[in-house]
Amino acid sequence: MQKTSFETIQFHKTKEGVVFTFLDIFKSLITFSELDKLGVWEVVDKQLAYSFPEKQLDRILDKHMEQLTNKLTGNKVKYIHENSGIPLIGNVAFGIAYRDSSIIEIKPVTSCNLDCVYCSISEGLSSKKNDFVVQREYLVKELFKIIEQFNQSVEVHVGVQGEPFLYGDMDGLLEDLQAHPLIHTISIDTNATLLTESRLDKLESITKLQLNVSLDAMDEQVAKKVAGIKHYNLKHLLNVIKYGAAKVKMIVAPVLTRGYNENEIEKIIQWVKTLEHKPILGIQNYLPYKTGRRAAKPYSWDEFYSMIDTWEKRYNIKLKLSAEDFNIKKMPPLPKPFKKGDIIGVKLVCEDRFPGSSIAIAKNRTISVPGLKYIPKKTVKLEIIRDKHNIFTGKVVKRKK
Ligand code: SF4
Repeated sequence: MQKTSFETIQFHKTKEGVVFTFLDIFKSLITFSELDKLGVWEVVDKQLAYSFPEKQLDRILDKHMEQLTNKLTGNKVKYIHENSGIPLIGNVAFGIAYRDSSIIEIKPVTSCNLDCVYCSISEGLSSKKNDFVVQREYLVKELFKIIEQFNQSVEVHVGVQGEPFLYGDMDGLLEDLQAHPLIHTISIDTNATLLTESRLDKLESITKLQLNVSLDAMDEQVAKKVAGIKHYNLKHLLNVIKYGAAKVKMIVAPVLTRGYNENEIEKIIQWVKTLEHKPILGIQNYLPYKTGRRAAKPYSWDEFYSMIDTWEKRYNIKLKLSAEDFNIKKMPPLPKPFKKGDIIGVKLVCEDRFPGSSIAIAKNRTISVPGLKYIPKKTVKLEIIRDKHNIFTGKVVKRKK
């Protein structure tokens, strides 16, 4: 019998069938009969040993790759790889967002293990949105093409709609980014709940890394309330920060949210000041977003900065981070193959983040089409209604009667 040797796929035999797990958090169930009708098989060391031709197994795996769901939420998942025909520029949720600055954002996955009250994209365990996961090699190749085209030193920001460390190929991604001479910083926004001491030991070799960690309270009950889950483990998070700040550059970034944690911020400042290896503190003001959760009435900027000023003086600490702290430079724009107002012909390729919406493609870009039900391979005419930073939205042009 031959045996698979996938790095990103694992198999587990259960009562119901063989669970096919892709990149740790995505799965599909292969029924026993699907495999039995092909021949003899067994699961050995989380791989599949089988007696039938490889092509037949590939057909089953291809089918199940199209049926993946997220283990955390049950939501549908789209895998975007080099042969998927889906470009990585154009969508706000996955791929590459280049905003004419020296911080280039990459989004290898969507999905989150928390459910924060202030989440600006309504992500997390209660999310009903579709998820995306991008092949690491494809993402890196396309990113490096952009970086090398401009030949300037950049920061790569792993700023996903969700928790980046849920990406099953994160170690390889970080190694690839670390090795590129034009990348000076790799920053990651993380809730840090999935980090451990041994993971942080490994991350120490990624010397360009900067972790931007959420810590919203020192009181366990408040922290659980803000994170939106009962099993949130504040003690673990505090240990990750304490241990991790000695290993990697770290910014602790509490989100000040009225009615939740205004009494917690000073406790966080006091705790950070006790640490031997102190992370930078960057307090953020909760802001409501159109597609985000409404946690509270936001503080006005005057109120926010007045509190920050008071805390800076009281604790003799710098809390205001400015553009200079992040070394952001302007960069030339990427060419836009179409602009707002253009009418273009496109092909639909998959459902977008919100069920009942579609992603279309044209000229090596994706275009989000809200409210258009996905029909495979359908072609339509769109009017481009958003083109900022090569992130495109379109609406269907109705045919004249
Ligand atoms: S950790 Fe981030 S992505 Fe996840 S729910 Fe909280 S704010 Fe949203």
